[in-house]
Amino acid sequence: MPRDLITLACTECKRRTYTSTKNKRLTPGRFEIKKYCRFDRKHTVHRETR
Ligand SMILES: [Zn+2]
Repeated sequence: MPRDLITLACTECKRRTYTSTKNKRLTPGRFEIKKYCRFDRKHTVHRETR
Protein backbone atom coordinates (compact mmCIF):
# COMPACT_ATOMS: atom_id res chain seq x y z
CA MET A 1 0.00 0.00 0.00
CA PRO A 2 1.53 3.35 -0.97
CA ARG A 3 1.30 5.38 2.20
CA ASP A 4 3.17 8.65 2.17
CA LEU A 5 4.41 10.71 5.04
CA ILE A 6 2.87 14.17 4.95
CA THR A 7 3.20 17.32 7.00
CA LEU A 8 0.14 19.26 8.09
CA ALA A 9 0.44 23.02 8.40
CA CYS A 10 -2.03 25.34 10.09
CA THR A 11 -3.56 27.73 7.56
CA GLU A 12 -3.88 30.53 10.14
CA CYS A 13 -0.42 30.73 11.72
CA LYS A 14 1.36 28.78 8.94
CA ARG A 15 3.18 26.60 11.42
CA ARG A 16 3.77 22.92 10.75
CA THR A 17 1.98 21.32 13.62
CA TYR A 18 1.39 17.69 12.68
CA THR A 19 2.86 14.89 10.70
CA SER A 20 0.75 12.06 9.42
CA THR A 21 0.52 9.44 6.76
CA LYS A 22 -2.05 9.25 4.04
CA ASN A 23 -3.02 6.80 1.39
CA LYS A 24 -2.57 8.55 -1.95
CA ARG A 25 -5.15 6.37 -3.60
CA LEU A 26 -7.87 7.24 -1.10
CA THR A 27 -7.05 10.94 -0.76
CA PRO A 28 -5.66 12.37 -3.98
CA GLY A 29 -4.72 16.02 -4.08
CA ARG A 30 -4.33 18.34 -1.15
CA PHE A 31 -5.45 16.94 2.15
CA GLU A 32 -7.33 19.24 4.55
CA ILE A 33 -8.45 18.52 8.08
CA LYS A 34 -9.68 20.50 11.08
CA LYS A 35 -7.32 20.03 13.99
CA TYR A 36 -6.45 21.74 17.22
CA CYS A 37 -3.58 24.20 16.83
CA ARG A 38 -1.75 24.74 20.10
CA PHE A 39 -0.34 28.06 18.87
CA ASP A 40 -3.78 29.50 18.03
CA ARG A 41 -5.39 27.59 20.92
CA LYS A 42 -8.35 26.64 18.76
CA HIS A 43 -9.34 24.34 15.95
CA THR A 44 -8.14 25.51 12.57
CA VAL A 45 -7.91 24.04 9.09
CA HIS A 46 -4.66 22.21 8.52
CA ARG A 47 -3.40 21.55 5.03
CA GLU A 48 -0.91 19.14 3.59
CA THR A 49 2.49 20.60 2.77
CA ARG A 50 5.74 19.16 1.48
ZN1 LIG B 1 -2.16 27.76 14.00
